[in-house]
Amino acid sequence: GRSFRPEGTTVTFPNGVVVGGKEVVVMAGPCSVESREQILTSAKQVAAAGAKFLRGGAFKPRSSPYSFQGMGLDGLKLLREVSDETGLLVITEVMEISQIELMLPFIDCFQVGARNMQNFNLLRELGHVRKPVLMKRGISATIEEVLLSAEYILSGGNYSLMLCERGIRTYETYTRNTMDISAIPVLKKLTHLPVLGDPSHGVGIRDLVPPMALASVAAGADGLLMEMHPNPDKAMSDGAQSLYPEQLQKLMAQLKLLAPVV
Ligand code: PEP
Ligand code: MN
Repeated sequence: GRSFRPEGTTVTFPNGVVVGGKEVVVMAGPCSVESREQILTSAKQVAAAGAKFLRGGAFKPRSSPYSFQGMGLDGLKLLREVSDETGLLVITEVMEISQIELMLPFIDCFQVGARNMQNFNLLRELGHVRKPVLMKRGISATIEEVLLSAEYILSGGNYSLMLCERGIRTYETYTRNTMDISAIPVLKKLTHLPVLGDPSHGVGIRDLVPPMALASVAAGADGLLMEMHPNPDKAMSDGAQSLYPEQLQKLMAQLKLLAPVV
């Protein structure tokens, strides 16, 4: 609860980037790592836009078992290599306990995806690592369920935890999910943890991402997780919601009118 740390928890990363502090931290990159060229180009574009984290899935939780499942260990190695080259931090999804050890040398932050927000054994294990975790809200999770899942990680002793609103399933079908902007101030009020917004999965439609990113920051988000691809029309996953590099660049400038952004 917020009363545990009224001033709020901050999560500090190796290069001095702080989430939960005065600056809004932007994490951007493709949905999936697809090749060296694709992820290196992405990293250069993310760094040029002024963001601090490169995102990209190496283990992908796809709805269909016949869809691209990610590059696995090769993807992790590429993420580390191109991030070191461009001065970025790495955030990527962990899907199961056995991947934790494998991932540790290559990443700066574990991402728990919406589908695993109630994988309690995974959460418990992440409570024992000493590396930051960003936990996304489940596809149909209530705020109460988000808070209880967070407890699984915190109660193991890992306080470097960030929460992320990424849209929930409602009756509305125009957008991929319904981005629950109100979850951001609600979570900020109820917890001491940093809260991020993921407008990409929140709406699923590229041109709706910038307004929802701005809305997230206006609502008090400590950061944003967004998909950007050098060539979204050729993306192996989530191309329709991936920003063009120029869109990310322009959005960063707009965000800076609302808050200090890195
Ligand atoms: C992702 O970030 O690419 C992802 C799979 O997100 P979510 O778990 O929110 O669906
Ligand atoms: Mn995605």
